[in-house]
Amino acid sequence: MPRAFITGITGQDGQHLAEFLHGKGYQVFGMIKGQNNPRAIQLAEEFPYVELIPGDLADLTSLVSALEYAQPDEVYNLGAISFVAISFNQAELTSNITGLGVLRMLEAIRMVGGVQNNPIRFYQASSSEMFGQVRQTPQTELTPFHPRSPYGCAKVFGHNITVNYRESYGIYACSGILFNHEGPRRGLEFVTRKVSNAVARIKLGVQQEIVMGNLDAKRDWGYAGDYVRAMWMMLQQDSPDDYVISTGETHSIEEFLTRAFDEAGLPDWHQFVRQDPRFFRPAEVDLLIGDSSKARKNLGWTPEVDFPSLVTMMVQHDLAIETAKLRK
Ligand code: NAP
Repeated sequence: MPRAFITGITGQDGQHLAEFLHGKGYQVFGMIKGQNNPRAIQLAEEFPYVELIPGDLADLTSLVSALEYAQPDEVYNLGAISFVAISFNQAELTSNITGLGVLRMLEAIRMVGGVQNNPIRFYQASSSEMFGQVRQTPQTELTPFHPRSPYGCAKVFGHNITVNYRESYGIYACSGILFNHEGPRRGLEFVTRKVSNAVARIKLGVQQEIVMGNLDAKRDWGYAGDYVRAMWMMLQQDSPDDYVISTGETHSIEEFLTRAFDEAGLPDWHQFVRQDPRFFRPAEVDLLIGDSSKARKNLGWTPEVDFPSLVTMMVQHDLAIETAKLRK
């Protein structure tokens, strides 16, 4: 039975990946931070097959202990301070966890897996936010980085140190440059889930408005379930490499709003949406749109859920859970 170790197990991608790897016959270990993490109980109920191991990306010793215990064939480093807006307020913490955390994980792999012929395969969750003020459109693996947030800067470090450890120590390390991916498990702080959840609550009469930032921002949005499949595919190749994972389509937040309101059978969204400058980023990224032809050709990866189906899935999910809450 292959063994996988996931950091960020409580996050959107961690949950999708655990489910996916379990379906592939893996024994799955997940790292959980904090002495009383409220998400541990929910995880244990929903994913009884995941063995949770305490640890923190800020603490190298805990990473070494976790790897010694799990003895993984594959490590997926999904843990991060991942919300761009927070990274402006907590830039130092973001740099430490999202950036230096990658270095600590790679060092732990060297310590546990050995210096020569290290058997552990490593996946780093890099991000399209590294492209920021984009130098070319669409963005590929070769597009230069110009991050526009502390989060993006930390991810650039994580990406570069992953490539460096592959080149310096021969570690099988891949960096997946993933464009935005969403779904019903997305945290409520992220714009797509904020909208799908608010739309459900407005439909049910328990919320009156949504307060939003920049509605013109455009993103290349895919479905998280499709994207974790790409992570696994990267680690099954003969040699490690870096891949852009994206749909190649771009949609504005305004378009997401329009579809979400339509899906719930609500009238024109303009009367429910208020813009507040507090929700604008100090520096916005340009039009992000990815060219994933390398992944499509080398890995045989293609996304299966398109943008309209993604919005439908998220709104219907939130309608169901908000309705269930009202019935309690
Ligand atoms: P997410 O839902 O925000 O999950 C982040 C995870 O990181 C949570 O499990 C969190 O644990 C964990 N974490 C935070 N601080 C930690 C620490 N000090 N030590 C260990 N773990 C820590 O993020 P996601 O959407 O699943 O994304 C997964 C990864 O892909 C992230 O690295 C993200 O930056 C990257 N990424 C995401 C997207 C996207 O569109 N979703 C796109 C590109 C890249 P707690 O719950 O305990 O706080």
